[in-house]
Amino acid sequence: MSIMNSLSPERGLRVLVTAGASGIGAAVARAFSEAGARVHVCDIDGLAIDRLVQALPGVTASVADASVERDVDLVFKDVAGNLGGLDVLVNNAGIAGPTASIEDISASQWERTVDVNLNSQFLFAKRAVPMLRASSSSPCIVAMSSVAGRLGYAYRTPYASTKWGVIGLMKSLAIELGPFGVRVNAILPGTVEGERMDGVIAARAAATGIDTEAMREQYLRKISLRRMVTADDVAATALFLSSPAARNITGQAISVDGNLEYL
Ligand code: NAD
Repeated sequence: MSIMNSLSPERGLRVLVTAGASGIGAAVARAFSEAGARVHVCDIDGLAIDRLVQALPGVTASVADASVERDVDLVFKDVAGNLGGLDVLVNNAGIAGPTASIEDISASQWERTVDVNLNSQFLFAKRAVPMLRASSSSPCIVAMSSVAGRLGYAYRTPYASTKWGVIGLMKSLAIELGPFGVRVNAILPGTVEGERMDGVIAARAAATGIDTEAMREQYLRKISLRRMVTADDVAATALFLSSPAARNITGQAISVDGNLEYL
C-alpha cells in the first residue's frame, strides 16, 4: 500500500481502550470500530458499558477499575480471549481530581488522582508490552495526557502532575520499545466541547459572579483558533497515530487543542 493511502489503521487491528464507555474513550472506540478494527474497552461504569456495546455491536468490554491491578489482570484475560492478541493500547483512563489550593487537597485525593491517571497507565502498559512486541502491525501505545501535561495548572496540581507524568512514561517507553518496533505517543487534548464543559463554564461563572457567556468568551480567548475541540478530533488523532502513515512517529506529545496558549 502506498504511504499516501495509509491514513487509516489496518482492518482487523486489535485495540484496547481504557475508560472507553463514554467521553473521549467512547469516541476513540467508535472511530476504531468504524475503521474496521476489533475493539475491546474497559470501564468502571457497567451501565455505560451496556450502552456502548449496544451502540457498537462487535465491540467487547470488561467492567474494571483501571487503577486496580487485579481488575487489570481480568481485562487482559478478556483481551486474550476476545482479541487473541493486541496491536494498539489506548491508555485513556483519567479523572479530573480535586480543584483546590494545595493546602486544601487531601492525601487521599492526591493518591486517587495518581492511581487513576498515572498508575493505571503503568499497569496497562506493563501487560500490553509483551503482546505489542508480538504484533506485526506497527504496534503502538497512545497515552492520553492533556494540555495540563505541557502547561502548569493552578488549583489542579494533582491533575497536572499526573499528566506531565504520562509524558515522562511515554517518552521513556518510546526509547525502551523502539528497538522492538513498538511506537509510543501521547495526545494532549485541550478544551473539549460538550455538556461537561458547559457545566464547568456555568459553575465557574456562578462562582465568580460573571455572566456565563462572558465566561465562555474568557475560555475561548485563550485558544488561538477561538474554538473548542471535539472528542472526535481526539479520536481522529488516535486513528492517525495507529495508521501506517504514522509508522515513523514515536516519542511525541501531540496537542489537539486549537493551540491553547495558557491555562
Ligand atoms: P470522562 O470523565 O468523560 O470519563 C470517561 C470514562 O472514564 C467514563 O465512562 C468513566 O466511567 C470512566 N472512568 C472513570 N474512572 C475510571 C477508572 N478508575 N477505571 C476505569 N474507567 C474509569 O473522561 P473524558 O473527559 O472522556 O477524558 C478521557 C481522558 O482524556 C482522560 O485521561 C482525561 O484526563 C483526558 N482529557 C480530557 C479532556 C476533556 O476536556 N474532556 C481534556 C484533556 C484531557
